[in-house]
Amino acid sequence: MQDNNNNEKYLHKHEKLYQELKTELEKIKQESKKFDGIDITTIEEKIKQLYDIAIKDEKTGLYNFRFFRSLLAIEIEKAERFGEKLSLAIIDIDNFKEINDKFGHAQGDLILKQLASLVKRNLRKTDVIARFGGEEFCILFAFTDWKKAKIACERLRQVVKRNTYMKTYGVTVSIGLAGYHGETLYDFFNKADKALAYAKTHGKDMVIAYEEISDKTS
Ligand code: GH3
Ligand code: MG
Ligand code: MG
Repeated sequence: MQDNNNNEKYLHKHEKLYQELKTELEKIKQESKKFDGIDITTIEEKIKQLYDIAIKDEKTGLYNFRFFRSLLAIEIEKAERFGEKLSLAIIDIDNFKEINDKFGHAQGDLILKQLASLVKRNLRKTDVIARFGGEEFCILFAFTDWKKAKIACERLRQVVKRNTYMKTYGVTVSIGLAGYHGETLYDFFNKADKALAYAKTHGKDMVIAYEEISDKTS
């Protein structure tokens, strides 16, 4: 019973709604004889589409930031309650404005798509990636302290740098990250963002953890 309550608590609003709708649809399907002319399958597909639109970024197919934020809020709550380790990273493409200027905005869009898929392919199943903004992505590393997250981010940076497609366009990324130490979600993001800003002002194409520079930024 306790477990059920906990699971309920950790469900997102849209997931709850989606499950309820599916249950209702199932009931309608069972009684379909009474509902001539209504295409239940189409309704089901549209519900799924609506669900995807609610949580995903159209351009990259990654989760959108709104969904990411609600996921992160849940993970922070878990970290508070159960002492789980948690890290957050922000990836920003280096000199993307120049890349757009040189190869055109449409090519820039394709690069964004390819980068999103490349990074996603190189993450573990438990890591969550979302499009943060224009040419920025964020990653939540559950059950991971900042040192381990830094190793993962360093690997990502190198994967991008060595990828043939990315090399063609001279794409590199800077990554800022932070481990969770009991702060608010807003402050957690701020820390990762400060680390990213440090990477940008110290040569780009590098990974910086807030923990490494905190004495220099406060
Ligand atoms: P920095 O290394 O400091 O990050 O430099 P930058 O040029 O990447 O950063 P800046 O913030 O100056 O510019 C970001 C660029 O990203 C400008 C904007 O046109 C581009 N951008 C943002 N969103 C998109 C998008 O969806 N598609 C394309 N093609 N470009 C985008
Ligand atoms: Mg940026
Ligand atoms: Mg950039």
